[in-house]
Order: sequence, then structure tokens, then C-alpha cells
Amino acid sequence: MTSALDETTAQLRAAGLSPTRRRRLVLEALDRRPRPVGAHELYVELTQQGTPVGMSTVYRTLTALAAKGLLHVFVRDGETHYRLCAAGRHYHLVCRRCGLVVEHVDEDEGWLKRIAREADFEADSPETEIHGVCGPCHRALKS
Ligand SMILES: [Zn+2]
Ligand SMILES: [Zn+2]
Repeated sequence: MTSALDETTAQLRAAGLSPTRRRRLVLEALDRRPRPVGAHELYVELTQQGTPVGMSTVYRTLTALAAKGLLHVFVRDGETHYRLCAAGRHYHLVCRRCGLVVEHVDEDEGWLKRIAREADFEADSPETEIHGVCGPCHRALKS
């Protein structure tokens, strides 16, 4: 059985980053979170948990992990948020009310290729965002 620790270490090594304590800490904090998290929010949370970490360290770590593609970046209310997505190509379905992100895995990018071909367009990012309202928010809006 692999522990969460081994997993984050392997993820970091695969991305060409040395598995430092603070990088593992940040990855573990973001693990299995459906909503992207902002640097300040994460900093407050880690501090409340008793983890001694500086705001600039949190910010730099998130930026470094995102630059290597380990985290996906979302801009919400003008602020950068970070999400640890599953591996593999996927699209993001983003709820504009609660910020929920649902991954839609599409390894061969079927519809993106089709749209691009029809439009005679070269599409380059697999990190497409589709904005809308998630089921629970939609139901809350109706009631
Ligand atoms: Zn993603
Ligand atoms: Zn929602």
C-alpha cells in the first residue's frame, strides 16, 4: 500500500521537483479538494492547523507547483486559486456560484479536435474551462 506521503513524493519527483517538506505539505493540503484554493486561504488554514509557514512561502510553493503543471490555476474574483487535479487530460466544469470544479476526462480531446477542425483553428490548451452552475447550486436557485 502506498501512503499519501509516497504519493506526493512521487508526484514531485515526476515533475522534476525535489520533494521538500513544504511542497509535500501544500500538495497534501490540496488533495481531494473539489474547489480551488487561494494562497491566503491556504496560508490561514495551515497556520490554524499549527503549521509554521510564511505567507510568501505558501505563495511561492503554489506558484512553483503550478508552473510545473502539478496544480491547475483558476482565477476567481480576480484572485488566483489552485487545484490539485487528477492526472490525465481533462476539462474543467466550473460553477460560477460556489466555485466547484468537476473534471471531465477526455484523453483524446474528441470534441475539442472536432470544433477546432471545423473552425480551422489550432487549439492548444487541454485545460479548458466550461462555466456554469453545478447541480446543488442550480437546485438552490430554483427553490
Ligand atoms: Zn485540472
Ligand atoms: Zn455550485
